[in-house]
Amino acid sequence: MKIIDRLREDRINISFEVFPPKTDAGFESVLKAVDEIGALNPAFISVTYGAGGGTSRNTVSIASHIRHDLGVESLAHLTCASSTKEVVGQVIEELKREGIENVLALRGDIPHDAAFPISNRYQYACELIEDIKLRGDFCIGAACYPEGHVENEHKKDDIRYLKEKVDCGVDFLTTQMFFDNSIFYNFLYRIREAGIMVPVLPGIMPVTNGKQIKRICELSGTALPQRFRAIVDRFGDNPKAMQRAGAVYASDQIIDLLANGIENIHVYSMNKPETARAIMSNLSEVI
Ligand code: FAD
Repeated sequence: MKIIDRLREDRINISFEVFPPKTDAGFESVLKAVDEIGALNPAFISVTYGAGGGTSRNTVSIASHIRHDLGVESLAHLTCASSTKEVVGQVIEELKREGIENVLALRGDIPHDAAFPISNRYQYACELIEDIKLRGDFCIGAACYPEGHVENEHKKDDIRYLKEKVDCGVDFLTTQMFFDNSIFYNFLYRIREAGIMVPVLPGIMPVTNGKQIKRICELSGTALPQRFRAIVDRFGDNPKAMQRAGAVYASDQIIDLLANGIENIHVYSMNKPETARAIMSNLSEVI
């Protein structure tokens, strides 16, 4: 099923995200986590794509497992900045062969070891989106950034480029994580005003590692609200407490989104079924 058809239904959709193993040795443990997350019956599970290519081939096989063995819809991420157009084309053909109908089309981070852009590579996600559309009947998702993409100094430019990207054939958008819902509501208002009308899934990150999140937020330009910072400062060194507090904070964000009429929510569960379960349990009487 195309994810866009499900998002158009009048229902609440909670989806989760997993990432493929770095080496083949980790495949079985990732699959176990994927199976446990699939048992929560989410709207879909997305599978990230390693920008450097190291884990990319596992993205297709995990997405295929989710769809065909678990009976849950899957969304395969696909990045293009660090691969040639030929390699990206091969992955698209593989997705078609595996019957995967949903792709999150991304540029990926610019490779540090090479000049960019290069003639046989894509420069922006919109070019990849155009090619995916030409190559098959896919439902195409793309990324957006409520606090602006780090490479763009001005949010206005970011929204202009986002509009161009959506006009290339994007069916829905998923946001980068944020920890203050008012940032998302403000972003939604601004992009609707700019004529971007596709469904937008807020991406909610349950934080389980206090130290890591501070670094990730610095790199991605994500604001840490005082209330969240206090939680990380207090519980960051205690993994169990941080895991519980992170799931509660994420659940609180989700309840606020639902209360404000947002029906489609993506959870960056990563490969942590216990966190996904805790969130679903916190939402049990709510959804
Ligand atoms: P683009 O949409 O191409 O934008 C990149 C930058 O270029 C932005 O600053 C944009 O404003 C600017 N831009 C766009 N078009 C133009 C133009 N015509 N002229 C000038 N500037 C322009 N990374 C991975 O490696 N693997 C993953 O699986 C992955 N999944 C992700 C999922 C989500 C929901 C999100 C939000 C991010 C994900 N990322 C992933 C990270 C992503 O690859 C990076 O943020 C990357 O830097 C940007 O990708 P993009 O597709 O948003 O790029």
